[in-house]
This record gives sequence, structure tokens and C-alpha cells, in this order.
Amino acid sequence: MLLSEQVTALARVRAVHTVAGIRELVAGWRATGGSVAFVPTMGNLHDGHLSLARLAASKADVVVMSIFVNPTQFGPGEDFAAYPRTLEDDLEKIEGSGVVEAVFLPEQQTIYPFGMADAVRIVLPALSRELCGAFRPGHFDGVASVVCRLLNIVQPQLLVMGQKDYQQCVLLERMVADLQMPVALVMAPTQREPDGLAMSSRNRYLDADERKKASTLHAALAQMRDAVLGGDRDFARIANMARERLVAAGFRPDYVEVRRARDLAAPSDADAAGELVALGAAWLGRARLIDNLRV
Ligand code: AMP
Repeated sequence: MLLSEQVTALARVRAVHTVAGIRELVAGWRATGGSVAFVPTMGNLHDGHLSLARLAASKADVVVMSIFVNPTQFGPGEDFAAYPRTLEDDLEKIEGSGVVEAVFLPEQQTIYPFGMADAVRIVLPALSRELCGAFRPGHFDGVASVVCRLLNIVQPQLLVMGQKDYQQCVLLERMVADLQMPVALVMAPTQREPDGLAMSSRNRYLDADERKKASTLHAALAQMRDAVLGGDRDFARIANMARERLVAAGFRPDYVEVRRARDLAAPSDADAAGELVALGAAWLGRARLIDNLRV
């Protein structure tokens, strides 16, 4: 790349802090017929996040990203205070991607103008209290509450989110449909390290020894997928074998399950391969890792 091209790429991204600022930009693009895709993140960006931006750019004329570490999706005792905040690095990565027009960087008060205690909140259906929700009470209501706010502020036509957070995608799709929000959700494939570990901001909590073992989560899910594809329908036994493998590798599993992909209901014998998903969440040292594979 020529230096002049680099400078152009670096000059493209606009950092916007206010609701009025981002609305004015988006309204301008939409007035000229441009479609807008939105990629919300909590920052500490890796190639998983950037792949979302690239997919967004392939589906819309303009890509807006946001960085906001949302306090309402962290439970008491979770890592809100310690969550890695790396804004300078993130902006460089966004600029380097060359596909993002604007990055929305709101203050807490901009997202929660009436404060957090008195904030209007989204309460999701029962699925939000299963799987990850069973171990992180209120987490998905917090995610939905912030995504609803961000969608109302940015007003994109497309919302791009990662399959890595599969339950989050299913629940947000439900929110968008139930509240008749004029936006379509696009689910982007999970980006992985060469050994299969799903990229995650929380991988940095792993020490060297844990990092070596961390890919076992992906391997255990792949083993579940292969068992189902091989014709095994005993989902409970399949999940148990994966759980035991994780425990043997030093993980502390929260859950390992096969569910129906469409709505994450318990699978029935009638659900064919192609309609299922293997999901798991497990602690390794200080890191809570999640992953899933479509079956
Ligand atoms: P986060 O910053 O962790 O809230 O993630 C922001 C978005 O990036 C969410 O839609 C995630 O699902 C997505 N994401 C996180 N990790 C990955 C990954 N490894 N591959 C693809 N998307 C990801």
C-alpha cells in the first residue's frame, strides 16, 4: 500500500461521541440512499470484531461500529472494572481495516441518560435465563437493553453480530422481531486462532499453560458435532462425554449441551443434523470461555 493510500484509509474513520452527532451522519447517508450496517462491540478488538466489520461492508454501503463497555450486562463480581479497555489500539485497528466510516464512542451518561438504577430495561423471554443466562443472571437483559438503545440511536438497517455468542444472537433476533424494530440481524461466523480457540477479548486472562489447553473447548464441541453427524441421537450422553473431556483438561464447565439451532429449545428426535447446535461454556483459570458449533 502506498503511503498516500494509508493516510487516506486512516483519515476515513470519524469518531463520534454524541447521539446528535451519529444521528446526523447516519441520516445524511440514508438520505442519499445509502444502507447502514452497525457492529456493536465492547472494544479490545481482535480479528473476530474486524471480520464483522468486513462482512458488514459487504452487505451495506456504510459501516458504523461502536465501542461501549456496557455495565448493565455484567453481574456483581464479574469483570466490568477489569474488562480490557484499549481505545487507542482499537481505533488503529478500525482505521487499518479500511471498511468502517464511523465509530460511536458514547459515555455511560449518553447511553443511560437517567442513570442506571432508573433505566428502562428490556426483559427477555425465558431462554435468557437458560444456558449462559443460568450462570449470569440478568446478563442478556443487560445486553438487550444496550443493543436496543444503540439501535435507536444509530438507526441502521443491518445489525451484525458474531455466532460466537449464539444465544445472544437468537435472543436479539427475538427482541428485534417482537418489538418490530426496523433492522435485520446478520450472524457472522466465528473467527478462530489456528488451534481452534475462538478469538475473544477474555482469552488474555489465560496464562501460557491455560492457553495451550484452551482449544480443548473447540475440540470437545467438534467431537459432539461429529457424534451427531455420525447418527448418535443420545444428546445427553454426547454432552456428558464432552463435559468429562473438559474436566480432564482442567476446565470447570458451566454447561455443555446440544440444542435446536433455530430457537435453542431442547432438541427432539425429529430435529435432523443441520438444525442443531452444540454449545458450551467453561472456566479455565480466570477466563470464562464460550463457544458453539452448528451441527
Ligand atoms: P464483544 O466486544 O465481546 O461484545 O463482541 C462484539 C461482537 O463481536 C459480538 O457480536 C460478538 O459475537 C462478536 N465476536 C466476538 N468474538 C468473535 C469471534 N471470535 N468471531 C466473530 N465474532 C466475534
